[in-house]
Amino acid sequence: MSNPEIRIDQLTGGRVLVAPGRAERPDDFTPGEWHPAGHEGCPFCEGNESATPPEVEADRPEGGTENGPGWATRTVPNLYPAVTPREAGQPEDARIVPDRAGAESSAFSSPADPLLASGRGSEPDMFVSRPAYGSHEVIVNSPSHLASLAELEGDSLSTAVAAWRRRMRAHRDSAYVQLILNQGPDSGASLEHSHAQLGAMEFVPPAVARERERVGAYRERTAGASLLGEILREEIRRGDRLVAIDDEVALVCPWASRHPYEMRLIPRRPTARFEEDEGGAAMLGRALRALTELFGNPCQLNLWVRTAPRGVEHFHWHLDLIPRLEPASAFEMATGVDINIVSPETAAEALRKAID
Ligand SMILES: [Zn+2]
Repeated sequence: MSNPEIRIDQLTGGRVLVAPGRAERPDDFTPGEWHPAGHEGCPFCEGNESATPPEVEADRPEGGTENGPGWATRTVPNLYPAVTPREAGQPEDARIVPDRAGAESSAFSSPADPLLASGRGSEPDMFVSRPAYGSHEVIVNSPSHLASLAELEGDSLSTAVAAWRRRMRAHRDSAYVQLILNQGPDSGASLEHSHAQLGAMEFVPPAVARERERVGAYRERTAGASLLGEILREEIRRGDRLVAIDDEVALVCPWASRHPYEMRLIPRRPTARFEEDEGGAAMLGRALRALTELFGNPCQLNLWVRTAPRGVEHFHWHLDLIPRLEPASAFEMATGVDINIVSPETAAEALRKAID
């Protein structure tokens, strides 16, 4: 493929410009330079538990005391939270009702939207806001100072992924629970010790709501089929964007990949919620090692889970993974349309060679 193409993401309806450069080789990239500084002064290292707020939960297979060493994973509140817990007994704002997951109005017509308010015959308040309630947690993936998730060996990655799932289940009453991981300074990470973050929110983010809407519409149109399930079946049949497959999950470079070497891990059996499923850690490890193979260790990356919002039964979770090779440009910011200079077919070919 040489001419630029517009591709539409089946799950979100978003558009992407796939515009391969003149040489479609991974070597064309100089991934962002990153030389981890080491464990000195790291609040997430085992033994430094007092440097974080008291833990919310920890995984101590051999026992041990709270906020002491001996843990495999440890969850603490984010010291600089994006959302904060509602205090006990605090009433909901009577004027502005929080969005509700599952409610049809949840993402596209927020009651806080000033223009929507104007439709009710009153003067809109153009500068309306409300408190951002929720929980923002940090899940430390390992007691050792590892900068890269790919360095978690043996069962350690499964243990970390199990902790992500456990914390997500603990917030099942939230409208949406977003699990993310930033790795490397260009990715948005502020501490290098490998950690995931969880945001439990009182609203469903628009991108999630859009996907949920399209998954629902497809299901209705096809009398019960899973949109992502059908996409996956076709990806397996065609094979050109398939990176690897095992009994639990498949790894593909999505048709409308927004970034070079973007990967999507999809459970083969459609399951609504990542946190209530089990598989995927082994394939995630392979994907991470393939990125290491192509772009060196540690590789800067962003990772997130997309799971069903509260109250939604028909959904198909997936986990998305993007190596951070280039910063966003003004075009992406101006238009919301990404330009991807490596076709997902080319990326998948390179990743198939690199994966173990
Ligand atoms: Zn550390």
